[in-house]
Amino acid sequence: MKTILVTGGSGFIGTNLIKKLLEDENNKVICIDNNYTGSFRNIKQFLEYENFKFIKHDISKPINIKENIDEIYNLACPASPIHYQKDPIFTLNTSIFGIINILELSKEHNAKVLHASTSEVYGNPLEHPQKESYWGNVNPIGPRACYDEGKRVAETYCYEYWKNFGLDVRIVRIFNTYGPYMNPDDGRVVSNFIIQALKNEPLTVYGDGTQTRSFQYIDDLINGMLKFMEIDKNKLKNDLEKKFNWTTIPVLNMGNPEEYTILELANKILELIPESKSKIVFKPLPKDDPVRRKPDITMAKEILGWEPKIRLEEGLERTIEYFKQII
Ligand code: NAD
Ligand code: UDP
Repeated sequence: MKTILVTGGSGFIGTNLIKKLLEDENNKVICIDNNYTGSFRNIKQFLEYENFKFIKHDISKPINIKENIDEIYNLACPASPIHYQKDPIFTLNTSIFGIINILELSKEHNAKVLHASTSEVYGNPLEHPQKESYWGNVNPIGPRACYDEGKRVAETYCYEYWKNFGLDVRIVRIFNTYGPYMNPDDGRVVSNFIIQALKNEPLTVYGDGTQTRSFQYIDDLINGMLKFMEIDKNKLKNDLEKKFNWTTIPVLNMGNPEEYTILELANKILELIPESKSKIVFKPLPKDDPVRRKPDITMAKEILGWEPKIRLEEGLERTIEYFKQII
């Protein structure tokens, strides 16, 4: 039996991860969440499982868990720009004090940690596509800084605990991911466009829609995260060093390298919902909105034998079906 702690477990990625973890009855899952952006509706399906426990708690406050923990997935943090900018200090505290509490817990329990970082650590990137070795281009005093810089500091804490205490910490830099269990009020582009199209409301393209993103379907991300957590520590270290001359804390990008403009995404969603009467409208581009984003996933491919399998159309169709049922 393995005990796995998932912080942020009632959010989008957390719910999908817990669902997958509970398919193995040798896993016991503890979910910590304060339901800031997550929802009890997502996790109530797990309450019937004996091997599932929910703890309502803010991870920026110290965490005390008596039972032994083997693995920690640290996902807790609002991820959508409208939600992480609503209370920027909360977002910073979640990233910074949150990771300190998680790393202390890991030290106490000798637990492996997989920390969810983000493509936002690359900011508005000057290198394209983005490799893990790229340092990024982030505005430290802009509206996105509470998220981007919080996530960057969290990576630094991971690195220092890995280096100074030998903790088994791995960092996954997640690129735009979408799929079932996204909160309908999430505000991110895929869920916004699908819900707008289903409700026959205008699709709100920010700016002229020429900015790009690369969209990863959730199942691909979950498979990648499980592989990253599972790989033996020494093999991971040796392979990273031998194949990529990477001698620091393990960091892998996970995303789908197919790149689309936001306008292309809007049109694709309208094609997939032909009954929709929605039209596209253009709204102001938010400040510091990154112009281009596309992951280089060579490292994850070589190290884990992982790459995304689900094309955008297929992932969007599944997500549209989900939202048809819940809205
Ligand atoms: P989400 O908002 O759906 O889920 C985040 C969860 O964390 C929510 O359930 C929320 O209630 C919880 N949470 C927030 N602050 C908390 C706190 N202080 N204490 C306890 N719980 C707290 O977002 P998501 O898309 O599931 O993202 C999960 C993680 O993955 C985040 O760390 C995010 O930064 C990272 N990430 C996501 C994406 C993506 O495209 N989905 C991309 C890059 C990184
Ligand atoms: N976006 C948009 N309309 C929306 C929501 C988002 O045009 O209703 C744009 C946003 O400006 C950005 C891209 O879509 O360029 C992705 O935004 P999202 O909030 O999903 O994630 P980000 O990658 O910016 O964190």
